[in-house]
Amino acid sequence: MNANNQVKLLLKLYKLESNGNGVDKAQAVRRLEKKLDSSLLKRYQRLKEKKGTGIAVLRNRICSGCKMVYPETHEMLKYRNFIHSCEYCGRLLVVTEKSA
Ligand SMILES: [Zn+2]
Repeated sequence: MNANNQVKLLLKLYKLESNGNGVDKAQAVRRLEKKLDSSLLKRYQRLKEKKGTGIAVLRNRICSGCKMVYPETHEMLKYRNFIHSCEYCGRLLVVTEKSA
């Protein structure tokens, strides 16, 4: 999926998942979730239920969710600001300009 605002939303959600806490966090998460495309929201919620977190970010070719390293030549790295699925843990994986 290549919708820039969805990428931004996922990055915000990711930050909340890793840093936020308490009531404010829950409310902020809900606000962001409302803006997600419904198919993306379903995937995100299913993952969150199963794994605790639904979103991972690729940094220096490492998935923040499962710490697996992708090879330099991986097809996924050609598509920046893109929402992929991690091949290893299945989380929604956001690939940005900082990923490669
Ligand atoms: Zn992963």
